[in-house]
Amino acid sequence: MKCHHCRIGHLHSTKMPFITFLDEQMLVVPDVSAYRCDMCGDVLFNEGFLEQLQYLLDQLTEAEYPPETAEWLALNEQLGHWQPGDRMS
Ligand SMILES: [Zn+2]
Repeated sequence: MKCHHCRIGHLHSTKMPFITFLDEQMLVVPDVSAYRCDMCGDVLFNEGFLEQLQYLLDQLTEAEYPPETAEWLALNEQLGHWQPGDRMS
């Protein structure tokens, strides 16, 4: 697989830590499947993994809401179906 960044190098399958920031906290996920370019060193993480991670982070962030806020959010979700850009079923 050719590197999309430099278009010269080739991407090699590797494992490396994924680092992201949650507010001001650093979150490190060790040993994530990734591709690294042998020329420019550009790293491409598995998209499925990133989606799963985002989902998990959303769940974690939601769990931090106090019960009143969670209730309000649930109510707001029920009432909010008229809003443009909302998910359509
Ligand atoms: Zn490259």
